Amino acid sequence: MKTIRLILGDQLNFGISSLSDINPNKDLILMAELNEEATYVKHHKKKIAFIFSAMRHFAEQCRKKGWNVCYIKYDSPDNKSSFVKQIQYAISNFSCDKLCMTEAGEYRLRQEFEQLNKKILIPFEIRKDTRFFATEEIFREWANGRKQLRMEYFYRELRREYKILMNEDGTPVGGKWNYDTENRVSPDPTKNIPNFTQIEPDSVTKDVIELVNKSFSDHFGSLETFHYAVTREEALIILEKFINERLQDFGPFQDAMLTDEPWMYHSHIGLYLNIGLLNPKEVVSLAEQAFFEKNLPLNSVEGFIRQILGWREYVRGLYWYKMPEYSQMNYLDLNRTLPEFYWSADTKLFCLSQSVAQTFEHAYAHHIQRLMVLGNYALLTGVSPNELNYWFLSVYADAYEWVELPNVSGMVLFADGGILASKPYVSGGAYIDRMSNYCSSCQFNVKKRTGEDACPFNYLYWNFLITHEDRFKKNPRMSMMYRTLSKMTDENKKQIKKDAQIWLNSEC
Ligand code: SF4
Repeated sequence: MKTIRLILGDQLNFGISSLSDINPNKDLILMAELNEEATYVKHHKKKIAFIFSAMRHFAEQCRKKGWNVCYIKYDSPDNKSSFVKQIQYAISNFSCDKLCMTEAGEYRLRQEFEQLNKKILIPFEIRKDTRFFATEEIFREWANGRKQLRMEYFYRELRREYKILMNEDGTPVGGKWNYDTENRVSPDPTKNIPNFTQIEPDSVTKDVIELVNKSFSDHFGSLETFHYAVTREEALIILEKFINERLQDFGPFQDAMLTDEPWMYHSHIGLYLNIGLLNPKEVVSLAEQAFFEKNLPLNSVEGFIRQILGWREYVRGLYWYKMPEYSQMNYLDLNRTLPEFYWSADTKLFCLSQSVAQTFEHAYAHHIQRLMVLGNYALLTGVSPNELNYWFLSVYADAYEWVELPNVSGMVLFADGGILASKPYVSGGAYIDRMSNYCSSCQFNVKKRTGEDACPFNYLYWNFLITHEDRFKKNPRMSMMYRTLSKMTDENKKQIKKDAQIWLNSEC
């Protein structure tokens, strides 16, 4: 029997389930650079270049193993633009008896492949994606019947099950599950930040960059510099450098932001994990090993492991537990369009111009820039979930809907009404000022609550609390904010609402 083994652009791993029983003499690996996938949202140029180059390198590694590969380049005359047409083309041209793939990571694509399964005349086997710690079924079992689906408790279950940072007696190493209270240190501009590990593009990547510049010229983003890893070997170098050079400071400075320092002490491996070049189990295992062997600080190692074993697994589980309704949720009835400066970085708000400019340049911004600057501003100004999800999904190299949607609709916009987060993540300028040095370069005054030169985050923040008072006043995690609000005079509140309205009508 000759089987077509379809490999998607985010399944670039020899351990993927669709390849587990490949017959090298007969089977055919099918990979294609498809217009439909590059444009269903207009992805950042660097994201497209990264995925296409990594796909081409993976295909070449498959050929080196002696496997038969049908690789359809973007500009090939045989390119049929969509998976359905490409598969139908392959079936009729390569006389295969069976089609096999690992399930797609996004709801949109799973629906498409299920429809295709009903149409094609050869057997079509769709296998489970085994790259995660927790299956979708495990999450469902954990979630069913619970009143609240908090990540922390799911994370603890996985820590216990996989014995990560655990003592023999079943207690967490160090005595606590979570060291977040030690992980909110303000940035230290005098402290050395290790250089970003740059991988020089080879001829394959250079060809792809030329292709993307030509074919996707109207997409957001720069291709001026490209230093991402595009093979597993290169991604392992990045991971090793992170563990050796940055991990020790990751914990305390994970929320810190500095002007013109996009990388800080973060790992920048999300794009490699999500495309398959790195496996989450190996990443967690190497970080844990570094804790024991290199004596790295527990708050840094636990904080990093929680991002992968906790947060990443949790958002994927939640996505599949709640789709498709999750994509339609809009608890706060937000309906404004995304400000134009999210595409241009042309804004007087320095924190936002930094975050958008770095996103344009690198298809990357770290999680506090995403959550507390870009996301916070969108929530305070009432950007609709559809608009913001489109932006986040298209501009970040690590963004796939299964990870992007819960983060944006759940964490950033509280669109799910509190399924994911226990309160909306809103703040005024004081938080950004504490965690960055941005405000000293900004024309607005972060200390002022109202007035023409006041930081807009300030009056927008209080305006948000006033607007949604009925919804959140009784939320115990927001009681301090509402106590402060209750002490304001009516005149203060009137001025806040007025300034917010002027800003919403003009600047944003
Ligand atoms: Fe951002 Fe306000 Fe600080 Fe300016 S003053 S950088 S707008 S937080």
